[in-house]
Amino acid sequence: MANKPLHLTDELYQYLLNVGVREPQVLMELREATELEDMSAMRSAPEQGQFMGMLLKLLGANRVLEIGTYTGYATLWMALALPRDGEVVTCDTSARWTFVAHRFWEQAGVQERIHLHLRPALETLDELLANGATASFDFAFIDADKENYDTYFEACLQLVRPGGLIAIDNTLWGGSVIDLNNHEASTEAIRAFNEKLLIDSRIELAMLPVSDGLTLAMKHRV
Ligand code: CA
Repeated sequence: MANKPLHLTDELYQYLLNVGVREPQVLMELREATELEDMSAMRSAPEQGQFMGMLLKLLGANRVLEIGTYTGYATLWMALALPRDGEVVTCDTSARWTFVAHRFWEQAGVQERIHLHLRPALETLDELLANGATASFDFAFIDADKENYDTYFEACLQLVRPGGLIAIDNTLWGGSVIDLNNHEASTEAIRAFNEKLLIDSRIELAMLPVSDGLTLAMKHRV
């Protein structure tokens, strides 16, 4: 039996989606609407959205911070996993993509749980820190411009409570992290970020071959 990740053929991946994902109708419709947008590969995968929803329930999460809304697919999985008085603070700079999001958040009846900040995430993070939101989030999801990953992470580490979790997407970056000829700024940023997390004593680390690489960093309780 293989003790390394299985290579998923299209057929095997489809099987996983068929028997392993309970995607609500509204999320299916949002996913289909996202396929019509540019950059639709940026949408999170259904099995990943479902997984993060379960993580929120395990954490008993009430407050979630998301960096990178895109069309709000992962946002909606997370909002649906929160209690009625829960909140997702989500950051993006694209009015066009998040316009798609609003329609489906409303359809799902959770728009009141979602607060979109339409401006550079660094501004929103600075404002949250300045307004005393330190340690007030249970979960953070980083899925935006890779060059700023480390800055986003440092802010999220302050904003998440002890025992809270930070999930970071695309940490395998299509495999480019091991391509020695690839010196794109995004690739270099992800490599440096991954290496930093490996020796970061402030967190518990789990790097998973989910989708394009999903890293989980749990903030130590003390
Ligand atoms: Ca992503």
